[in-house]
Amino acid sequence: MSETKQYDVIIIGAGPAGMTAATYASRAELKTIMIDQGIYGGQMNNTADVENYPGYNNIKGPDLAEKMYASSTQFGAEYTFGEVSSVEVLDNNEKMVHTDMGDYQAPAVIVATGSEHVHLGVDGEEDYQGKGVSYCAVCDAAFFKGEGVAVVGGGDSAVEEGLYLADVVDHVTIFVRGDRLKAQPILQQRAMKKDNIEFVFNTEVTSINGNGEEVQSVNLHNNKTGADSTFEAAGVFIYIGLKPNTEKFADLNITNEHGWVIADETMQTKVPGIFAAGDVLVKELRQITTAIGDGGQAGQSAYNYVSALKAGQ
Ligand code: FAD
Ligand code: NAP
Repeated sequence: MSETKQYDVIIIGAGPAGMTAATYASRAELKTIMIDQGIYGGQMNNTADVENYPGYNNIKGPDLAEKMYASSTQFGAEYTFGEVSSVEVLDNNEKMVHTDMGDYQAPAVIVATGSEHVHLGVDGEEDYQGKGVSYCAVCDAAFFKGEGVAVVGGGDSAVEEGLYLADVVDHVTIFVRGDRLKAQPILQQRAMKKDNIEFVFNTEVTSINGNGEEVQSVNLHNNKTGADSTFEAAGVFIYIGLKPNTEKFADLNITNEHGWVIADETMQTKVPGIFAAGDVLVKELRQITTAIGDGGQAGQSAYNYVSALKAGQ
């Protein structure tokens, strides 16, 4: 059994929120660690072009992740790999964070676990993951050079990633279940100008079909006319929204009924010493800029909490 490692603050998740919290906490001389089940950077690693982050007209998501990581570790914050399975609140204001790579203990914990893609839940979706079904255009577009792909969804992700796909694959067909897009107007306008992007409205993908090895088509249902049809596609990119990564923290009872974390303006949850930041929160705008704002505040609040404990208040 490995020894429990002691810190002042443990940050769960090393996306923009977690990395910014690490910058603030470690610059305030807290012994700080970020734990992430993947590579640092979070959703930025799945974003081709970021055009709405101040200071850059355009920067690649993974490049921004590298820059943030360099900032977040410059004052001594550590990063380690590990999937957090639970957080236990101990009697003496300490929290124990359990991971598949060992246990970590600290008085302050910042939950910055973001969110993940909602699955469509249709036949073929799970079977063809990695064989044509994808949630990441940046990761998988190149597999479909010269072919046609389907995109499901009508929000920012579907349209923005559809634009990225259109530069790589032969043609992109975006299936929208309603009669309009939810995406920002600037993205809609860009997509409408692309010769190889087509929108199909009022249409739901009801199954994903293939030959066992790769996707070949999707079944469609037009919810206005009631017509069913089949559409040939080599890949299916699903962008129908996000759900919070909070299942592992259900015992803490810090979320609303949909699983998003509730915190006050200092990022304090209802459990003293447990803070939250970024997309995982109940909030209106889930963006890199808002995640880093939350992260800075959470890092500072963790400092206030730990200093007060150390001063015996
Ligand atoms: P995330 O970036 O999601 O990071 C959370 C981290 O927590 C992840 O690294 C994850 O591995 C880790 N984690 C989760 N659970 C655990 C666990 N149990 N144990 C350990 N680690 C865990 N925003 C913009 O501002 N501009 C854009 O152009 C833009 N484009 C986007 C494109 C797409 C396709 C998507 C999906 C989002 C885009 N966004 C964009 C939104 C932006 O990426 C997010 O708002 C931002 O990344 C949220 O940061 P975060 O740190 O809160 O969470
Ligand atoms: P989203 O904004 O929640 O949009 C989800 C879309 O999927 C909606 O069009 C919704 O349709 C549709 N949908 C939901 N369930 C469906 C189903 N079962 N079948 C078919 N369609 C379904 O999600 P998102 O686009 O992933 O964006 C998530 C967050 O990231 C947002 O806050 C967004 O602003 C942000 N983001 C920002 C950028 C950027 O700033 N450039 C880029 C990407 C993402 P209805 O409209 O009918 O509900």
